Amino acid sequence: MISLQDISFAYPSAGFRLEIPRLAAASGERLAVVGPSGSGKTTLLSLVAGILVPFSGSVRVGDVEVHTLGDVARRDFRARTIGSVFQDFGLVEYLSARDNILHPYRISGALTLDGATRKRAEDLAWRAGIGAKLGHRPGALSHGEKQRVAICRALLTRPPVVLADEATGNLDPETKGVILDLLFSCAEAENATVLAVTHDHDLLDRFDRVVDFRSFRQTMPA
Ligand code: ADP
Ligand code: MG
Repeated sequence: MISLQDISFAYPSAGFRLEIPRLAAASGERLAVVGPSGSGKTTLLSLVAGILVPFSGSVRVGDVEVHTLGDVARRDFRARTIGSVFQDFGLVEYLSARDNILHPYRISGALTLDGATRKRAEDLAWRAGIGAKLGHRPGALSHGEKQRVAICRALLTRPPVVLADEATGNLDPETKGVILDLLFSCAEAENATVLAVTHDHDLLDRFDRVVDFRSFRQTMPA
């Protein structure tokens, strides 16, 4: 499903350089991404999502050669193919939980919001345990509830790829496992591939595989 080959990427201004000879993940596979702070984990997710383009090498997601696409095509690819969950939830504070979940459909011309999608948003929310809170704004939700909203938003488009960047980083120890279970069960329902950056080493045995950034070559700023 995901295949990166001979990747070279750099933030020249920061003196950071990353090389990934090969990284692949199958449909439905759940990969944990671990490594020191500043080693390029978020950069990897951005390369898969087509937010960043490698200096050289290839990024393939399904049958899309992401690195060959222009800006507009990459944005549409991202809207259709990638669901993202972040440590800081990334919710819009003035929108209700419901409108946050539907937000990708409002901001991307590549997606069409119809009745079936609204229904799916409700169903996902109930499954995630926030069905009764769809009218609440993020400010009225706990951290765990906010991340449930973010997971519903990420999965609403039925993306074949789910990226999670320290998605459990802001949660208390009990909630971490519950939220990861929810993310996995929602992803599994769509046979989505999950790439999850995590510092929660006690959660690693729930993944199919662990990718350790210490195995790649980086040049980091002094
Ligand atoms: P990680 O997620 O593993 O902590 P990142 O991928 O965020 O690491 O960052 C890798 C390195 O690139 C860090 O040294 C970081 O400071 C630098 N970096 C990240 N984003 C940018 C950017 N937009 N511009 C310049 N340097 C950046
Ligand atoms: Mg990061």
